[in-house]
Amino acid sequence: MAAVESRPLSPNPPRIRVLPDLLISQIAAGEVVERPAAALKELLENSLDAGAKSLDIELLAGGIRRIRVADDGHGIAASELPLALARHATSKIGSLEELERVSSLGFRGEALASLAAVARLSVVSVTAGARHGARIEAAGGETGAVEPAAHDAGTVVCADDLFYNTPARRKFLKSEATEFGHCDEVARRIALARPEVAMTLTHNGRRVWSAPGQSLRARARDLLGAEFDDAAVELSEPGEAITLSGLAALPRYTRHARDQQYVYVNGRFVRDKLIAHALRSAYADVLHGDRQPALVLFLALDPARVDVNVHPGKSEVRFRDAHAVHQFVFHAIRKALARPGESAAAPTADPLAWVRPSAPVGGGTMPWSARAQQGQLSALSVREPAAFYQTLFGVNAGPGADAPVIDAPAAPIPPLGFALGQLHGVYVLAQNAEGLVLVDMHAAHERILYERFKAAFDAAGVAAQPLLAPIAVALGERDRALVEREAALLSRLGFDVAPLSEREVAVRSIPAMLPSIDVPAMLREVLDEIADHGASHAVESGRNEALSTMACHGAVRANRQLTIAEMNALLRQMEETERSGQCNHG
Ligand code: ADP
Ligand code: MG
Repeated sequence: MAAVESRPLSPNPPRIRVLPDLLISQIAAGEVVERPAAALKELLENSLDAGAKSLDIELLAGGIRRIRVADDGHGIAASELPLALARHATSKIGSLEELERVSSLGFRGEALASLAAVARLSVVSVTAGARHGARIEAAGGETGAVEPAAHDAGTVVCADDLFYNTPARRKFLKSEATEFGHCDEVARRIALARPEVAMTLTHNGRRVWSAPGQSLRARARDLLGAEFDDAAVELSEPGEAITLSGLAALPRYTRHARDQQYVYVNGRFVRDKLIAHALRSAYADVLHGDRQPALVLFLALDPARVDVNVHPGKSEVRFRDAHAVHQFVFHAIRKALARPGESAAAPTADPLAWVRPSAPVGGGTMPWSARAQQGQLSALSVREPAAFYQTLFGVNAGPGADAPVIDAPAAPIPPLGFALGQLHGVYVLAQNAEGLVLVDMHAAHERILYERFKAAFDAAGVAAQPLLAPIAVALGERDRALVEREAALLSRLGFDVAPLSEREVAVRSIPAMLPSIDVPAMLREVLDEIADHGASHAVESGRNEALSTMACHGAVRANRQLTIAEMNALLRQMEETERSGQCNHG
């Protein structure tokens, strides 16, 4: 205060001026095309938006000296070339309504204008109906005249000497090899997303890779290797509001880094913490802690339910219903990994505990296996469920058989029926009045916990279970600050956490509904969710995700053997839980 007061106010405060166009574009360019890879991504997306079926990329010096993309898309009319280079000029959206439903990759109308401001840009293009092509050049914000040019098809955009006129930006560029590495990765992301598009990548005159238009599997084999292809199972999970497809490697092929996790939302590559978490959890039972799964995953959902307008050029998205997306991805992957014939699950301690009947289920040809609950079973048919049940539990096996009686007239059969056994360590097989029911036990349990947490949170807060001895958890600076700032929220979630030392906090209570959890791991994840959503913004979804994380931690893990009584208890809880029958993965 004193320092401010002691300085006399200037009689002439600084004048407010409108920034010159070139400077505006140069500032914007820092965001849109901050490095060669970002510029390349914009150009490739433009080509795809133009319906290209073939893309040729040529780079010089890691893209710093040249980024050139040639496509066979619909082209740009000669008269519109100057507009293509103008800021906020786009052919892709025209209203806020269209922005909210945007399905093209680009829509800001900033990429070419930015490149025109910070590189020497040329665009040569021809449209289907035109007799000849046209060319335009721009540098330092000055756009030249449109000139006729010989050109057969599509568009060639060439950006030379990135940041030649903004030396401060240029200084931030890394070595040629590093910048090339980023460009290569951008091209691969697009190549995996659009296998039907032929692509080539050339660097300093050398062909680095090329791929014809092909199937996803073939492209994955070309770009991720034969080992990935050999271990990959196909994903196909059509849901009502959301669809998932792609390839996921079984745990016999893993990576030490996340370098082969290609996740796309509506065709756009994303790095999303929520999806990463769902993947980590889905593989948690079958991967060693320090190994990473490899996959190419496509999520498709109504564009109105996902916000891609978060940051230009950044691979961030925001889901309207994050919890549903998390659950959907988690369960779809788990299902794929547990598919019959896929030895994804960890080997069982007793291989004889698995029964592989020769008779098909319900007349189909799907092989299946069931973990026998009792005795030594040989081949069994489930064509006649009652007989199957009897054999499994010895209902009529004489006195002393303690399994529930299936057709006792006194007790009506509940909607989800009675448990028969556990399949693949993932599903509960049950029989009700109509036939057989398969229940994903983790999904069911998670949903039950989630709904209970939500109800408890909304009432008085999640009940806390004091720990006999507090647990010390080492946290980073951000998380230690969060613990202090969000103490009230944490307490409503069932956590009593207090600062302990410079680096640690003491956990004195945990949510009572989660008896056997990994406290440090869960606390860190819950703090992550809170941090992601900030205190003011989207408290609601931050809270839901924290609850969802807790539910996921607390839910039964795959391959945990449940007793028949536990399975029946789960089925009864499911019937009671509002909405548990509506899991969107079916
Ligand atoms: P945006 O992609 O956000 O619309 P850009 O600055 O990247 O903005 O491109 C501006 C316009 O130029 C696009 O809307 C499109 O009409 C046209 N355009 C750019 N690149 C191509 C291309 N390779 N083929 C056809 N049209 C293109
Ligand atoms: Mg664009």
